[in-house]
Amino acid sequence: MATEPARRVPRATTGVVLRTEQLTPHMIRVVLGGEGLAGFGAGEYTDHYVKLLFPVPGVTYPEPFDMGVIRAELPREEWPKTRTYTVRAWDPEAGELTLDFVCHGEEGLAGPWATRARPGDVIRFLGPGGAYAPSPDADWHLLVGDESALPAIGAALERIPAGVPARVFVEVEGPEEEQKLPTAGDAEIVWLHRGGAPVGEALVRAVRELTFPEGTVHAFVHGEASFVKELRRHLRVERDLPLERLSISGYWRRGRDEDGWQSSKREWNRRIEEEEAQELSGSPVG
Ligand SMILES: Cc1cc2nc3c(=O)[nH]c(=O)nc-3n(C[C@H](O)[C@H](O)[C@H](O)COP(=O)(O)OP(=O)(O)OC[C@H]3O[C@@H](n4cnc5c(N)ncnc54)[C@H](O)[C@@H]3O)c2cc1C
Repeated sequence: MATEPARRVPRATTGVVLRTEQLTPHMIRVVLGGEGLAGFGAGEYTDHYVKLLFPVPGVTYPEPFDMGVIRAELPREEWPKTRTYTVRAWDPEAGELTLDFVCHGEEGLAGPWATRARPGDVIRFLGPGGAYAPSPDADWHLLVGDESALPAIGAALERIPAGVPARVFVEVEGPEEEQKLPTAGDAEIVWLHRGGAPVGEALVRAVRELTFPEGTVHAFVHGEASFVKELRRHLRVERDLPLERLSISGYWRRGRDEDGWQSSKREWNRRIEEEEAQELSGSPVG
C-alpha cells in the first residue's frame, strides 16, 4: 500500500541575542548569533525573512524542539505564534543575523520582545524565505514602504549596482526616524513624514505624482496592507506594470495582529486580484 509522503515541516533555528541597538526612537536592531545559526543560509534575496516563534504562555513544548512534532501533537491554539521579520543582514563568517524591529507600542509580541531583548535571550525561528532582489535587467528601481519595509529597502539598496537609478519613498513618523541607507546606486531617497496622517497616505500621493524615468522598472512596495492595496491598483491598472516587475504585498494590517492578518490575507489578495482582472479587461467592477 502506498504511504502518504510526510509533510515537510521546516526545522526551527535557535538564535541567541548578542546585542541590541536603538537605531531611532522607534526602531530597534537585534543581532542574533550562537551555534544554532551554523546551518543558516540567506543571501539570494534582499527580502529574506524569518518567522520568529513565540511560545504560548503556559504551554511546555516537547524537547528537542521540533515544529513537526508540535504541529502533529498539540492543538493549533498551542502552536507557537509566528511573527515575520526581514533579514536586514546575514554575516555567515561571523554567524550574525541582524533584524530590525519597529517598536509600535506595548501591543503585540515581537515589538515588545525586541524592546526588552537582552544579550543571552534565546529566540527560535523558521526560515529564511524570500522572493525578491533588485533585477539586474531593470533600467531603474522603485522602492516604496513604511518603516516595516525599511529593513528590506535598506538591503535592496545595498544590492543596487553603481550608477543604476532608484527612486525610493519611505514613510516614517517624523525626521527622527530617518536612517542612513548606503547604496552604490544612483538613488533619490525621499523621506515622508506621517505626522498624524493615516499610514501610507503620503506614499500613495508621492508615487502617483512621480514622473517615471525612461525604461523598465522593477518595483518593491510593502508595508501596511491598505496603502499597498491602493498602490497595487495604481501601478497595475494606471501604470500598466506587469506583475513580474512588481514585488508587492501587505506586511501588516492596522488593527489586526499578525495571526489575524495572515489568516485573512489569502481572501484579501484574492479580492484584489479579482478586481484588478476586471479593471484590466475593461469590465465594470461589481
Ligand atoms: C515578509 C515580511 C517581512 C517583515 N519585515 C519586518 C521587519 O523587518 N521589521 C518590522 O518591524 N516588521 C516587519 N514586518 C511586519 C511585522 O511582521 C508585523 O508588523 C507584525 O504584526 C509585528 O508583530 P507584533 O507582535 O509586534 O504585533 P502584532 O501582535 O502582530 O500586532 C499588534 C498590534 O500592533 C499593530 N501593528 C503591527 N505592526 C505594526 C507596525 N509596524 N506599526 C504600527 N502598528 C503595528 C497591529 O495592527 C495590531 O493592532 C514584516 C512582515 C512580513 C510579512
